[in-house]
Amino acid sequence: MFNNRTKNDAIADGIFVLGALQRSWATSQLLTDPEVIAVEATGIKYNKLWTFYRIEIEGRIFHSKSYLKATARNNFTVMFSNQLGKLEYGSILKFVKLTGKCRSIRCCEKTCTCRIPEWSLALIDVLDLHHHQLPTFRGKTVVQHIKRVQKANRYV
Ligand SMILES: [Zn+2]
Repeated sequence: MFNNRTKNDAIADGIFVLGALQRSWATSQLLTDPEVIAVEATGIKYNKLWTFYRIEIEGRIFHSKSYLKATARNNFTVMFSNQLGKLEYGSILKFVKLTGKCRSIRCCEKTCTCRIPEWSLALIDVLDLHHHQLPTFRGKTVVQHIKRVQKANRYV
């Protein structure tokens, strides 16, 4: 289990998970069906899935929409670069961390301390910019790697 330190996990240089990671089991409903589909669409072969709600990127904290305490200001709407390199706007629904399986044959999974592959994603509701500059909900969930979200440099 992960402990309750505020910054419990460094994803990459200057990027930290804030708060606790919640393990998602087959019986738990941490992700909605469209969110599961979006995660599967990445093609990542993962073994375990966690969700988390806040992230710190280069000193700036991003909340997800699911983080209910984020009432003071909207910092879950981001500009990001999509898979085609095009800039889009969206709301961060939640963050997802995926880990792969340990490939060592001499390892007991319960006490595994091997380096296993892991991926961190942001689940994003894409917003369309309307003619009147009012973002409208397109109703589509996509997954972006956090490194791409990192390119978000202003809020809408
Ligand atoms: Zn191992």
